[in-house]
Amino acid sequence: MIIIMDPKTEIQNINKVQECIESNGLGVYSSRGESYLIIGVIGDSGKLDSNKLLRFDGVQKVLKVEEPFKKANRLFKPDDTIVDIEGKKIGGGNLGIIAGPCSVESEEQIIKIAKDIKAAGGNFLRGGAFKPRTSPYSFQGLELEGLELLKKAKKETGLPIVTEIMSTDYIDQFVDNVDVIQVGARNMQNFDLLKQLGKTNKPILLKRGLSATIEEWIMSAEYILAGGNENVILCERGIRTFETYTRNTLDLSAIPMVKRLSHLPVIVDPSHAGGYWYLVEPLAKAAIMAGADGLMIEVHNDPKNALSDGQQSIKPENFRALMDKIRVCAEIEGKIIK
Ligand code: PEP
Ligand code: MN
Repeated sequence: MIIIMDPKTEIQNINKVQECIESNGLGVYSSRGESYLIIGVIGDSGKLDSNKLLRFDGVQKVLKVEEPFKKANRLFKPDDTIVDIEGKKIGGGNLGIIAGPCSVESEEQIIKIAKDIKAAGGNFLRGGAFKPRTSPYSFQGLELEGLELLKKAKKETGLPIVTEIMSTDYIDQFVDNVDVIQVGARNMQNFDLLKQLGKTNKPILLKRGLSATIEEWIMSAEYILAGGNENVILCERGIRTFETYTRNTLDLSAIPMVKRLSHLPVIVDPSHAGGYWYLVEPLAKAAIMAGADGLMIEVHNDPKNALSDGQQSIKPENFRALMDKIRVCAEIEGKIIK
């Protein structure tokens, strides 16, 4: 349930409504914009009498919210969430272009790629240090050493670091060393991890699960928001379908649908979606034109010898050419890349 109040109403009227909700054992989430004031009810709002609420001074409307997600719901917060990472913003007209190798492999590799990404106009560096591989015999990542190498690359370029966490064991190291914590597709429903991340104030990049519905995906974001961390960025990375020519199927329609349902920013990873380097550019352009708030792209200086996902990684020169096209798409969409 949401209660729409007159944005000019006095604070005591707001407090009375909030007290009424809380006295029924329910939570309150209020949001305010220039022309609105919304009090959202968290919990089983069946306990509340909407006619009684309508009698409070300042209350204009009481609406039922059908969706199971609350804090992530656009009805609870009509304005786009803008996640601010060291002054670089994602959402609300700001595009985050996150690029880098699938895995951090060496100091030389990550620094070289980071410099190329910066020069091309990307504004975040990605690189996996803990890798969720399908086979236990594949390269598992440099782990904590990988985080150190990402920090060196950040020192060289100033690009904030985005990297994946796989276990609650490393939350402290991630909070101390990383700018955006990525939750991968395979961990989208690791609820224990989501709850722990909800207690931090780090921006979280939440990838869509391999076969997750839009609702399941937003409910996972709700876990993080419910803990108090409202800095969540969603990432569509393709879902599993019957098609086998592509690694996954990029669900382009999820972008406008999620943006209608939720105020959270949504970015797209065309690399894991298509699975081939030559699909990255068309999918990236389509994503921006469909309203995405950014991209996550795998870039490698030597894709043939990459330790993971070489077949879907583009070379730095292709990333540079892609950025020129993305800037044109951004302009058409009225978005900026800072
Ligand atoms: C990745 O970003 O390298 C990755 C493993 O992605 P996903 O979780 O989407 O498969
Ligand atoms: Mn990868």
